[in-house]
Amino acid sequence: MERPVSARLFAEAQRHIPGGVSSPVRAFKAVGGTPPFLVRGEGAYVWDADGNRYLDYVLSWGPLILGHAHPEVLARVEEVAKRGLTFGAPHPLEAELAQAVKRAYPGVELVRFVNSGTEATMSALRLARGYTGRKYLVKFRGNYHGHADGLLVEAGSGALTLGVPSSAGVPEEYAKLTLVLEYNDPEALRALLRARGEEIAAIIFEPVVGNAGVLVPTEEFLKALHEARDYGVLLVADEVMTGFRLGFGGATERFGLRPDLVTLGKILGGGLPAAAYGGRREIMEKVAPLGPVYQAGTLSGNPLAMAAGLATLGILEKNPGYYARLEEVGAGLEAGLREVLSRKGIPHAVNRVGSMLTVFFTEGPVRTFAEARRTDTELFRRFFHGLLDRGVYWPPSNFEAAFLSIAHGEAEVALTLEALERVL
Ligand code: PMP
Repeated sequence: MERPVSARLFAEAQRHIPGGVSSPVRAFKAVGGTPPFLVRGEGAYVWDADGNRYLDYVLSWGPLILGHAHPEVLARVEEVAKRGLTFGAPHPLEAELAQAVKRAYPGVELVRFVNSGTEATMSALRLARGYTGRKYLVKFRGNYHGHADGLLVEAGSGALTLGVPSSAGVPEEYAKLTLVLEYNDPEALRALLRARGEEIAAIIFEPVVGNAGVLVPTEEFLKALHEARDYGVLLVADEVMTGFRLGFGGATERFGLRPDLVTLGKILGGGLPAAAYGGRREIMEKVAPLGPVYQAGTLSGNPLAMAAGLATLGILEKNPGYYARLEEVGAGLEAGLREVLSRKGIPHAVNRVGSMLTVFFTEGPVRTFAEARRTDTELFRRFFHGLLDRGVYWPPSNFEAAFLSIAHGEAEVALTLEALERVL
């Protein structure tokens, strides 16, 4: 598949923008080659500047659960846009979207809107520190919560290991306030809580990890997370990716979680920049202007993003059958991938929850970041480019989730499996 126009656009962009991209994975560094410049989308498909069509499993990294250019979403955005893009004043759609969030998350009593998942997690953790008066945070290796300084920490092994910055520019003193544990290791978590529980403000986690590839939480791990509350530690479920995707009530509903704070993004904004954090009134009342924890935003709660989010959530709420369908198509894709890879004798583990899926090229099971890293990234590179050249746009890194939308059906699964057959 030729992409001369994308190649020219990429060369030009690199003269003006670091790596030619506004977010690093888009540059295809892990897999090499020229990223297609996407200029149009409809349903499950996207078109690049050269006119090539691809079946899209990236879906803008998760927001587009209804597929590209859903007519009802576009109509709502257009209608609101005609009356002005932003006012920096309260707008009626904010409380409407907040109510939709509260219907999805019955434990949430107050919601604050921001513009990105990064802002949501950063603000939720500031609030957790402000509320508890404690300074340490706990996160899990291979979980991603956006690019705020204190969350760009990976750390060495061991429950009590102090954080080390994994991005240049994060002062070590600051990174040390983030303690990093292995995901799905309940005993390490319990040991840390026993040793230092009283110093910890919050534990933030991805209820289903998408950012190390898909990792599924064990029941025991989820149980250990909830034990944190015995130490006065706030549990922050980062549902930026899983919210409204694993069910209308996200992973919280699906796994019966009881987080103190929830962060949302992606689907919440229906393809425009909106994210949120929310929780019990008593905690959320610490946020300005009610309380002493400061957080603000020029474009926060802007009418366009609120309209896209409301249209998207409205459609999902009216059609609960969509989640059963995502599950069914997801199961079909998973079974098909397993069948083809087994038949070709390729070691693999397919991790899937609902409409999030990753193929690891290693013998399973893959439950932790360490296990995920055993994947054969060279094989993944060939898998990725093979599919791309046959019109299937898979996420350009093995440590990411592929997503389905309601526009993905049996025909799309068949197209994917045929392409994979030919690649192998
Ligand atoms: N949390 C999770 C779980 C995410 O997946 C992401 C982004 N992929 C973020 C936070 C950060 O969101 P954003 O890119 O909107 O800042």
